[in-house]
Amino acid sequence: MSDETQPHHARLPERGRPWEELRDAIQGLRRDDLDWRHGRHSALIWYADDDVERVSSEAFGMFLVENGLGLRFFPSPRRMEEDVVAIGRELLGGDDGVCGHMTSGGTESLFLAAHAAHAAREWARRRQPTVVRPEVVVPGSAHPAIDKAAHYLGMDVVRVPVRANFRADSVAMEAAITPATVMLCASAPTYSLGVVDPIAQVGEVAARHGLWFHVDACVGGILAPFAREIGVAVPAFAFDVPGVTSVSADLHKSGFTPKGASTVLFRSAERQEVGVFHFDGWPSGRYSTRTFTGTRPGGAIAASWAVLNFLGREGYRRIAGTVMATRARLLAGLAAIGGVHVWGDPELWALGYGLEGGDIFAVADRLESQSWHVARIREPRGIHLMITPVHARSVDEYLVAVADAARQVRATGERSAVDAVYWS
Ligand SMILES: *Cc1c(COP(=O)(O)O)cnc(C)c1O
Repeated sequence: MSDETQPHHARLPERGRPWEELRDAIQGLRRDDLDWRHGRHSALIWYADDDVERVSSEAFGMFLVENGLGLRFFPSPRRMEEDVVAIGRELLGGDDGVCGHMTSGGTESLFLAAHAAHAAREWARRRQPTVVRPEVVVPGSAHPAIDKAAHYLGMDVVRVPVRANFRADSVAMEAAITPATVMLCASAPTYSLGVVDPIAQVGEVAARHGLWFHVDACVGGILAPFAREIGVAVPAFAFDVPGVTSVSADLHKSGFTPKGASTVLFRSAERQEVGVFHFDGWPSGRYSTRTFTGTRPGGAIAASWAVLNFLGREGYRRIAGTVMATRARLLAGLAAIGGVHVWGDPELWALGYGLEGGDIFAVADRLESQSWHVARIREPRGIHLMITPVHARSVDEYLVAVADAARQVRATGERSAVDAVYWS
């Protein structure tokens, strides 16, 4: 690993270096990167297979230069983005009125939903002139991207404790609504423990109070419909639930497209329009964007279009099958390890497990010392896993490592000094 305390003194070379030499240099730099190809990662990586990688890479490469900011000059990426959004609408149970667009990722999708709700706040302000800082009411399990959005938008986030089953408490959320509330959020599923919040119940609360309701389906939105098709009981979580105003679903997670691709969809064109940014007071005239970014990579659009169509429904069902079968092996293996238990009752590929009679973070320490990448959960104390197809290769070895570590941790009573820290 590079020493992060040392300042970097890289200089732009006077004369360019040959690509062959640079390629070798990059390969050298990659030496310490997380070994995800062998499934030693717990999160961050979504990889379908080598064929999908080739399709992604070629399609992305065809649009390295085109700019998604000026799509009226590039009908081909525009058409592909429309297709991607139409596919997203179908997967998320939207009717013809549902519209949306691609973004650079889940954070931007959530930001834009919050921004639209924030714009709708101008209306709320007229109704309620005392509202200085609008509030977003979310379950305590919500992803920090909503806090980040609220931070930039001058909103406060009210995190409402989840129920004993780790799912959103719609009653407590309703009780947290004040005249300053402009938006409710819930997850399908949550990032840390992978449980789907009771979207229908929160939707009822939102409808009753006339509030914007965003469903964060970043991690599951694209693949969950296919899990359902192969028999997994996934409750309704998107536009088929009345009261849902907007939904975010990341393509670069369970859609297995390259990074830099998400979707945000709105119940109606009116809901989408309220979030569009317009500015006219500069030399070049009217400037309007639907995304936070200005220049947008055409490659992310083309690669998403290509991967969706390359896999098709059959391909996503196959991936869902691999992931759910791997999950079944993992759950059976974990259940056989003394003291280990999965938190809650997660439906899909994200989950967290804890340890009775020992410190689960000490298990994490031991796994890390064997070059497993481990994500920790602070509350409830656990180890997080985001299961993807490559984990089919590593699950057996992983279970042996966890069983061994858990046994030793319970025997020694050792405790970890390392806290849960998400990456930056
Ligand atoms: C990943 C994730 C986000 C943020 O998405 P990025 O693509 O990392 O910006 C938001 N919500 C949930 C539930 C996520 O899993």
